[in-house]
Amino acid sequence: MKSGKRIGIMGGTFNPIHNGHLLLAAKAQEQVLLERILFMPSGNSYMKKNVLETQKRVEMVALAIERYPDFELSLIEAQKSGNTYTYETLACLKAANPDTQYYFIIGADILFQIEQWRNPGQIFQMAVLVCAVRDDYDFDAIRKKGNILAASGADIIYLNMPKLDISSTDIRAKVKSGLTISELVPPEVAHYIEQEHLYYEED
Ligand code: ATP
Ligand code: MG
Repeated sequence: MKSGKRIGIMGGTFNPIHNGHLLLAAKAQEQVLLERILFMPSGNSYMKKNVLETQKRVEMVALAIERYPDFELSLIEAQKSGNTYTYETLACLKAANPDTQYYFIIGADILFQIEQWRNPGQIFQMAVLVCAVRDDYDFDAIRKKGNILAASGADIIYLNMPKLDISSTDIRAKVKSGLTISELVPPEVAHYIEQEHLYYEED
């Protein structure tokens, strides 16, 4: 068996990055024994409109992961103009690092969307999915969906972690309402949001 590297990928809009993302990555690293985790902020997403400019989302990711030596910023999607597709990103990484096994780390909401992404079969071939509970998807529902995806070739690892009721959507709404977000994001990110006056005028 090849003794390739084991690298995690945390893709997201990160609008903004929050403690849920960081805990998800830390649990994945610990349970799947990953050497490093690439935090990969999206560029201009075709799925989400009215997203904060890429440079500021990237800046917040950089601030949030600074203290974690095994977390790394990857600009592979952020620097691409136009739509980015996960299968293309993975193909690019695999071409550069053929011996690396990639682990694509997701919350359960993505498990239920991924079949609608472009070329899901190729995603399943190039990366193992690492999935955490989220929202109203309980473990049974996740397993059931996972079995359906497995029939299409997906290899899925289920993380053991508590459900975290944190989302970027909720954080943006809280900032807009003048509520504190200090429990939800790292202090550096809270400070950046304040300093740059982000999300106050979100509609
Ligand atoms: P938004 O509300 O804007 O969609 P989000 O909180 O879902 O933001 P994303 O950047 O969309 O954050 O998510 C990136 C990845 O992190 C996705 O795979 C998502 O499922 C996962 N994720 C985000 N928050 C959590 C959480 N609280 N628990 C588990 N996974 C999460
Ligand atoms: Mg989301």
